[in-house]
Amino acid sequence: MSIQVTSVSKLYKEQKALDAISFSAKKGEVIGFLGPNGAGKSTMMKILTGFISPNSGDVLVDDIDVMQNPIEAQKTIGYLPEHNPLYAEMYVREYLQFRAQIFKVDKKQIENCIERVGLTAEAHKKINQLSKGYQQRVGIAAAILHNPSVLILDEPTTGLDPNQLVEIRALIKSLGQEKTILLSTHIMQEVEAVCDKVIIIKKGKILLDEQLSNLNPKKQQTIEVAFNSLIDEGVFQQLQDLKSAKNIGENIWQLTFTSEDDKRPKVFDFAQQNNLQILELSAKNKNLEMLFREITA
Ligand code: ADP
Repeated sequence: MSIQVTSVSKLYKEQKALDAISFSAKKGEVIGFLGPNGAGKSTMMKILTGFISPNSGDVLVDDIDVMQNPIEAQKTIGYLPEHNPLYAEMYVREYLQFRAQIFKVDKKQIENCIERVGLTAEAHKKINQLSKGYQQRVGIAAAILHNPSVLILDEPTTGLDPNQLVEIRALIKSLGQEKTILLSTHIMQEVEAVCDKVIIIKKGKILLDEQLSNLNPKKQQTIEVAFNSLIDEGVFQQLQDLKSAKNIGENIWQLTFTSEDDKRPKVFDFAQQNNLQILELSAKNKNLEMLFREITA
C-alpha cells in the first residue's frame, strides 16, 4: 500500500478533529478526500506528511512509519499545503533552486519539473507576476522536485478561475498516472473529473470510502411526477424496474428505477393505461453531487 492509515485520532484541546479514521491507497490511485469545511481533511494531510502528530493510530506511507521515521517518509511524499506558501518576491527558477538546495535535490530536476507542470513559458517571471493558476503550478513543481511517489494536495484548486481549474485538474490527472495522489476538495465534480476513489469525511469520521466506478449514478434514476388524482401505491407495481415509489406531496410521487434506460416514456404510458393525467414530470437523476449532499447533510 502507498498509504495506510489505521484508526487515527486527533484532538485539538477538547475538539476532536479526527475520530479513529482508517483508509488506504493503492499504488497509483488518485483519491478524492472530500468533505465540508472543518471536516478534518487538512488535519489528516498534515499528519500524513509528518507536520503534526496524531493522538493515536498508525500512519504508513510506502510502508514507512511516518511518526517513527519522519525524514525517510518525507522523501516519498510531496506536499502542497492549503495556502500554497511561496516566496512571492522570488523568480520561479530561483525559488525552485532554493527548494532544491534545501531538500538536496539534483538541480537538473528543476528544468524537468518546470516542463512537467507546464511552467516553461513563465519560469523567467517573479512568482508575484504569475496568475493564481500558475502559482499553483509552482507549488506543484516544488512538491514533485524530489520525485516523490505519493502526492498530498490540499485543496489545490481553491480560488482558481474556471479555465485555471480545468488546467490544474488536467495536470493532477496526468501526475496521477505516475503517482499516488490524495487530493482534498469540497467539490464533488472535481472528484468525478480526476479521481479513482472517493473518501467522504465529516466531523472527523469517514462516511464513505468507495471506488467511483461503484458509484455509477447511471444505474439509478429518479423521476418526480405530479398526477391529477389520487393513486394507490400498489398501482406502481405495474412499472418495470421500479425500486421505490415515495409520495412527496399531494399526488406528487418520486419514482426511483434501477435501470440505465430513460424511464420517462414508461411513466407516460403508465399514466395513460391508468386513466391518469400528468401535470408535471421531471427526471431527478442522482449525480455524485447529490450523493455528497445526501451523505453529508
Ligand atoms: P478541513 O481541512 O476539512 O476544513 P481541518 O482539518 O482544517 O478541516 O479542521 C478540522 C477541525 O479542527 C475544525 O473544526 C477546525 O476548526 C479544527 N482545527 C484545525 N486546526 C486547528 C488548530 N490548530 N487548533 C485548534 N483547532 C483546529
